[in-house]
Amino acid sequence: MIDNEQHVLVVFPHPDDEAFGVSGTITSYIKQGTPVTYACLTLGEMGRNLGMPPFATRESLPSIRKKELKKAAEVMGIEDLRMMGLRDKTLEFEDDADMKQLVADLVDELKPSLVISFYPGYAVHPDHEATARAVVEALGEIEPDIRPTLHAVAFANNTEEDLGKPDVIHDIRHVQEDKLNAMRAHISQTARMLEMLEEGIERDDPEALKWVHYENFYTYKWGDES
Ligand SMILES: [Zn+2]
Repeated sequence: MIDNEQHVLVVFPHPDDEAFGVSGTITSYIKQGTPVTYACLTLGEMGRNLGMPPFATRESLPSIRKKELKKAAEVMGIEDLRMMGLRDKTLEFEDDADMKQLVADLVDELKPSLVISFYPGYAVHPDHEATARAVVEALGEIEPDIRPTLHAVAFANNTEEDLGKPDVIHDIRHVQEDKLNAMRAHISQTARMLEMLEEGIERDDPEALKWVHYENFYTYKWGDES
C-alpha cells in the first residue's frame, strides 16, 4: 500500500512514457481510490516504431497512438486523460514560458497533492527534459506550504552517481499484470520490449522482474523548503 494522496497529476510528453515508468504506481493509486489525471503532452506521432511487424504508416501513426493511449488509460483506470496536443519531438523548441504555463494551469485547476514527471537533467530525451523543466518551473513558483510533492523519474546513466538511490520505491507486484497490460496497450511501440520482458519474467531474470516489481522515484528537493 502506498501513501494516499488527494489527487495525483502525471505529466509526460509521450504516450507510453507512463506505461514503462509509472503505470504500476498509477494503477495502485486508482485502486486505492486516489484520482489520477494523466496529461500527455504529445501523441508521439514521430515515433520510430510502426509496429512489429509494421502495421502503422507515418500517416496513421498519430491516430493509432491516440487509440493506444486511450486504451492504456482505460487499463490503468484513469478517468481523466488529457491530450495536450503539442507536437512530438518539438518540445525543446516550445517557448519555455508557454510550457510552464500549461503545467501551471493544470495544477491550478486540479490542485494535486502529488505530481509525477521526469527529473530534469536525468530524463535522457529532449522532450523529456523540456517536460521536466516545465514541471519544476511551474511548481517552483508555488508557495512551499501549498506546493504539491514532486516524484520524479530519473533514468540517465549517471543518475545514482549524482542523486544517490531513489528515496521512493513503490512495490507494484500486486498490479504486475495491469502494468504489463498498460505496456501492451502501446503495442505499436512496445512489441519488441514486451517480448524480451515477458521472456525474462518467464525465467525469473532479475533485470526483467524489476520492471514489474518496483517503480522508483526521487522526491524533488526545492531550494526554499525549511
Ligand atoms: Zn518518452
